[in-house]
Amino acid sequence: MKKNKGIIDQIKKIKQEKSIYIIAHYYQRAEIQDIADFVGDSYAMAVSAKNSAADTILVAGVDFMAESAAILCPEKTVLIPEPNASCPMADKVDINDILRFKEENPEGLVVSYVNTPAAVKAVSDICVTSSNAVKIIEQLPKDARILFVPDENLGHYVAKKLNRSMDFYASSCPTHETVTRDDIMQLKEQYPEAEVLVHPECEPGVVALADYVGSTSGIIDYAASSDKDQLIIGTENGILHRIRQLVPDKELILAHRELICPNMKSITLNKILHSLETNETIVTVPEDIRTKAEVALKKMIDYAS
Ligand code: SF4
Repeated sequence: MKKNKGIIDQIKKIKQEKSIYIIAHYYQRAEIQDIADFVGDSYAMAVSAKNSAADTILVAGVDFMAESAAILCPEKTVLIPEPNASCPMADKVDINDILRFKEENPEGLVVSYVNTPAAVKAVSDICVTSSNAVKIIEQLPKDARILFVPDENLGHYVAKKLNRSMDFYASSCPTHETVTRDDIMQLKEQYPEAEVLVHPECEPGVVALADYVGSTSGIIDYAASSDKDQLIIGTENGILHRIRQLVPDKELILAHRELICPNMKSITLNKILHSLETNETIVTVPEDIRTKAEVALKKMIDYAS
């Protein structure tokens, strides 16, 4: 941390001078989480952006997170320090597939994970995050056909939880998919006393072996209250920073050494400083798309609260 002191001081100074509110995801580098005004999962980030009093928000996360802030806060300036930070799972969605589903199923509902571009949210009926997907889909009409976009692993997890059939999109998170069932079996053998905590973006075989399945904030809360000394963590390694802050004495074992999202990690302190100094890059969403996407996002917030 000492080696970053100069740049951290500069960031804090400009942030204060310009009244810029920094929101970061738990998958960000530890030093970025430390300089943020708010750190959370994608749902909490969206709510925090909406509730912030600042005129300018800098989002340390991938592009769909900054877009969500721009959708919910059209009166604010939203900055992303690395405009190429994207999510391959979200980018795989072809909007034509969704339009075809809607045409073939006029009564059907399109439920989008927030990990989608604004244009996909705009043709969705409601958004969800991993922390509220079960709660929200449970409230949708039982007889409605649902297309769940884009994470099929999260979709399968929710469908099983609710004992409800849904159509899935063929996409998933390449970072969470690095963890295999064999990895978990081996770690359970190596650490027989440990609890296994995984994100539902992991494949179903991994989820089936877990003691706890939940969103990043869910995993953090569970880890903080667990009475076990060793925890096997099946989500992106950035989360370890917050868990260590809360329960420094626990041994945390990452379920796979490659649980590192290169897109999240493409944001650095230098890029944040540049963004604060130059007001680059401003995230904008065309108004016709923004207003439609806002309906799906606001519905999520209403259903989840
Ligand atoms: S961790 Fe996975 S879902 Fe999240 S931004 Fe990275 S690639 Fe996308």
